[in-house]
Amino acid sequence: MPDIIQLLPDHVANQIAAGEVVQRPASVVKELLENSIDAEATEIKLLIKDAGKSLIQVIDNGIGMSETDARLAFERHATSKIKTAEDLFNLTTKGFRGEALASIVAISHVEIKTKPTIKELGTQIKLEGSKVISQHTIATPTGTSIAVKHLFYNIPARRNFLKSNSVETRHIIDEFQRVALAHPDISFSFFHNDGELFNLKKGNLRQRIVAILGSKTNEKLVPISEETDIVKIEGFITKPNFAKKKRGEQFFFVNDRFIKHGYLHHAVVSAFEGLLAHGYHPSYFLYLRVPATTLDVNIHPTKTEVKFDNEHALYAIIRSTIKHSLGQYNVAPVLDFNKDATLDVPYDFKQKKAVTPKIKVDPAFNPFETEKKSGSGYRREQNGNWDSLYVNIQDDAMAIENIEVDAQEVSQELFDEQVSGRTAKTFQIHQKYILSVIKSGMVLIDQNLAHQRILYEEFLTKITIEEAACQQLLFPIELNFTSVEAQLVKDMRSDLESLGFQFETIAADLIVIKGIPMLLKESEVRPILEELLENIRHEIPENSFSQLDIIAKSLAKSMAIKNGVKLTTIEQEELLEKLFLCKEPNHSPYGKNTFITLPLEEIQLKFDN
Ligand code: ADP
Ligand code: MG
Repeated sequence: MPDIIQLLPDHVANQIAAGEVVQRPASVVKELLENSIDAEATEIKLLIKDAGKSLIQVIDNGIGMSETDARLAFERHATSKIKTAEDLFNLTTKGFRGEALASIVAISHVEIKTKPTIKELGTQIKLEGSKVISQHTIATPTGTSIAVKHLFYNIPARRNFLKSNSVETRHIIDEFQRVALAHPDISFSFFHNDGELFNLKKGNLRQRIVAILGSKTNEKLVPISEETDIVKIEGFITKPNFAKKKRGEQFFFVNDRFIKHGYLHHAVVSAFEGLLAHGYHPSYFLYLRVPATTLDVNIHPTKTEVKFDNEHALYAIIRSTIKHSLGQYNVAPVLDFNKDATLDVPYDFKQKKAVTPKIKVDPAFNPFETEKKSGSGYRREQNGNWDSLYVNIQDDAMAIENIEVDAQEVSQELFDEQVSGRTAKTFQIHQKYILSVIKSGMVLIDQNLAHQRILYEEFLTKITIEEAACQQLLFPIELNFTSVEAQLVKDMRSDLESLGFQFETIAADLIVIKGIPMLLKESEVRPILEELLENIRHEIPENSFSQLDIIAKSLAKSMAIKNGVKLTTIEQEELLEKLFLCKEPNHSPYGKNTFITLPLEEIQLKFDN
């Protein structure tokens, strides 16, 4: 048999290696930012176009590279950061594997401009898929600029695998924030499609956290500080009463490197034991410093997973340090998380005017019809959203149309008798359920869940066809958000406007609202928008449809009449009627049952024992 093993050509090996280092545009951002930090830059600028799909550029004022180094930097295993294997056990830089640039150039078009301090002139090199296209001597400031264009241009499978721009941008923002949080002493700016997302001045840690997460973060932070032989811990946790329902702001940094570490995360969470209601998560920004010899960062190509020599000791130290700080800052007494929701009704159902404008629901209307007809990708994209709603009643193969037909039949059947006579009575039970008599027995409706469904469909209708009623505010509401949040609001602006919001300004950190939806209370605007942003950030909409869906769901949930609210007979009937005019009355927007039926036979069975 002839020999069949060959060495892979370099460009193929580089492409394979690239797969490990570069999963998405955000990976490139991380590697370039880290290189700038290793080059001792004090100012770093990140420019992105189309979520990094067409351009990622990082410009720094670091030490730059000589002409020879600039050529070598793109070779695999070319690094200035380690020389011997022993150096691996005493790392002080972010990079050391010498494979990031080689991987990046293998799968994109790259242009680098660089100049070291001591030289008058710098070097410009252009590469396409690891091949040097041109090299010139140019005038350029000290430091390095690397522009990465057409990422994955030669790996269509990878390119097609990329998510929507909003998802990829989200990943980039995450990486940027991690790097920026690790280095408050470096100034960073970040432009996306020419709009400035962040402009972070050099400062201390608290200032950096607040600059990234917004001014309202400041009052929530409790400082942490501890020094032992094996670790020095600095940073902040947030007071338990600011804990979040979604896991969000949880950051561990070790020797200035962002890491993920389940075991140490547990140490933090356990320190909060007894202080957080079930389902709430603390936020934290913890900076550990350990001797480089006790840390192994070389277990994963992206280096976010690390191994400590003294994990158990670290666990104990972190836990007790946080417990101590929580006690010291006197935030230990359990706060009232289970605040009675019945005490604050989002809007006053009872004081609605006698003649309420009826929502117009066209039973044949399907808000998604137009979309369905356009793009062929529609069906596949939508399934993700709708499956979750219908999972209990439909098998996956069933189309949306069938569901609607079913739903209408259900409601017709249920209420045949009443439609003509309207004699059936409704009763409110425990200010929570509405009971009514139907043909086959009785029906028990959860008022909150039912109203969620009604509002949800109403909102979808409004977003897609009708204009919603808006109440003009005498005094515009001013809200402070972070620039990222403001950007999200900007993205949602037209959807929110079709629901009745009116914005005066949406600037980087200030949003001024001059009109709000008819049913919304002024005091509810901030919490509702905050919750909405939280949902959008965490559910990360894959496309504009699902963003719209999340908005409608969130608003419906926040604005729906709560349990514990007394309803008049007229209101009860109205709720009932509106519910069964819905396209999908059986479930709340989040998939819970809105009502149950008790057939006569079942009731009879209870007496037949
Ligand atoms: P590593 O960071 O693991 O050394 P890279 O492929 O990321 O590997 O970079 C290769 C080399 O290129 C680095 O070791 C460094 O000498 C040089 N380099 C990369 N980016 C910069 C930069 N922004 N400024 C100065 N030198 C850089
Ligand atoms: Mg590097």
